[in-house]
Amino acid sequence: MKKWIDNIRRVEPYVPGEQPSDADVIKLNTNENPYPPAPEVLETAKNTDMGLLRLYPDPTASKLTDALADMHGVKSAQIFPGVGSDDVLSMIFLTFFNSDKPVLFPDITYSFYSVWADVYRIPYERPALDCDFRIRARDYYRENGGVVIANPNAPTSIYEGLDFIEDILRHNGDSVVVVDEAYIDFAEGPSALELLPEYDNLIVVRTFSKSRSMAGLRIGYAVAGEELIKALNDVKYSVNSYTLNRPSIELGAVAARCGDYYDGITRKVVATRERAAKELEKLGFECLPSGANFLFARHGKVSGRQIFGELREAGIYVRHFDAPRIDDFLRITVGTDEQMDRLIDFLKRYS
Ligand code: PMP
Repeated sequence: MKKWIDNIRRVEPYVPGEQPSDADVIKLNTNENPYPPAPEVLETAKNTDMGLLRLYPDPTASKLTDALADMHGVKSAQIFPGVGSDDVLSMIFLTFFNSDKPVLFPDITYSFYSVWADVYRIPYERPALDCDFRIRARDYYRENGGVVIANPNAPTSIYEGLDFIEDILRHNGDSVVVVDEAYIDFAEGPSALELLPEYDNLIVVRTFSKSRSMAGLRIGYAVAGEELIKALNDVKYSVNSYTLNRPSIELGAVAARCGDYYDGITRKVVATRERAAKELEKLGFECLPSGANFLFARHGKVSGRQIFGELREAGIYVRHFDAPRIDDFLRITVGTDEQMDRLIDFLKRYS
């Protein structure tokens, strides 16, 4: 017998959204941005000297870190960049959740959290969302090994205000509280970044995959007090020192300085979202109130699984989760107006 089989670390992996090779698919399944990166980013990409790829990148990614620090009005020592926010969150789980007490995150949230907890053998508990799919702050008032809140939450799309986040922080002075703000730019409300000066146990996670239209480059980062960032760097340099590649550092730094362009496309996505939600409601769907670049919608009569399958056959990809309480929902990324019209036209058959 192969004895080594007993020593394999068994994990149930996260299942990423499909990336079809067929360009004709209307791709509304992974919350990418339907608009291209800023023109300055594309121009820089054209002029980038690929000959330099023979050299390792800057392990501190200082060009990008400095640009992000400027963008948020914090010190560079308060930024920890990574290969998408998945890499940053994974490092956060490894660095800060090193206790026997359970880490707390909602039962319905970004499904990667429980995967990282499992792979790193971190105990966790998942308080249930309430009947409106909202997080109950009081579930996070107890002793724990850390707290992770996605705000807006995924896949529910619901945004909670700063009072809610501060309430959780006030009750968790002894834990690191992570606020995953992957979708915050699409929300009508402030970011937990505003709370950083008051809470040295708060860490805010951001990504360039959604509102900065750069999912393909894999850029994410955490913003926190210097003490937390130093701890993250110590662990990172114990795993892999060269995380971000050269093009990501260069182009990410440019994107960080193109705020006006990205504000413009974000407004377009939000306007399309609001219009699409109204149209879907006319067709008998219920959409949870969205502060993100996607809608979480269910039909009153037809199952989520059925609509998902029929959409897929028609070349319209959305996301469906086979999980209790949400298996009748579809998570629909907000695309261009034209893409949403194609989706809505197809869904008219269910009205
Ligand atoms: N957090 C949440 C809540 C997400 O939905 C995603 C996207 N799958 C991520 C983090 C990771 O995004 P990325 O690694 O592309 O930055």
